[in-house]
Amino acid sequence: MNRRPQWARAWRDVVLALALDDESAKHARKITRQAGVEAVEIRPGNASAVVRDRGTSYPVRWKMPTLTEGAWDRLGAELLHRPLAVVGLLRENDTSPLEEDLADVLDDLIPSGHLLDASCGCDDWIAPCRHALAVGTAIADVIEADVWKLFELRGRTRNWLIEIDAAARADRLLRDAGYR
Ligand SMILES: [Zn+2]
Repeated sequence: MNRRPQWARAWRDVVLALALDDESAKHARKITRQAGVEAVEIRPGNASAVVRDRGTSYPVRWKMPTLTEGAWDRLGAELLHRPLAVVGLLRENDTSPLEEDLADVLDDLIPSGHLLDASCGCDDWIAPCRHALAVGTAIADVIEADVWKLFELRGRTRNWLIEIDAAARADRLLRDAGYR
């Protein structure tokens, strides 16, 4: 069984729920299947790609807010309560055995639909257009292959977890040694 991780499904559902009609969603899936989405780039707060559709290339960008400092602090604390999940994320980037444990934490990284803003170089009046939907579903594939891309999209990299994990360890050592 090659079941998608929960966060990749959640992302895809949010994107496809924005489709104005089934036709656009169907066309988007076709473009994605034909590998018409190229050069997907993930940055804090946005993802961009180029979509090839019937011989023409369209630049697409999805924008969303990054998480606030407070939200990251809460998410970090949640993660640190799941030492196995932290090890899985940091050492292996293999989250499959930990999916259940991680799913509710990573759920906070999935933006709700009204926070997403898609733009495309085509002149389709439908927003998001089929090209944007194709990129939206391609992003689901990207975060399925590498969950860190989801973190990056909302504003944090692997280093963030390395740092808060190290700080928590140091804290524990000092406490155990009676310094705190
Ligand atoms: Zn378009």
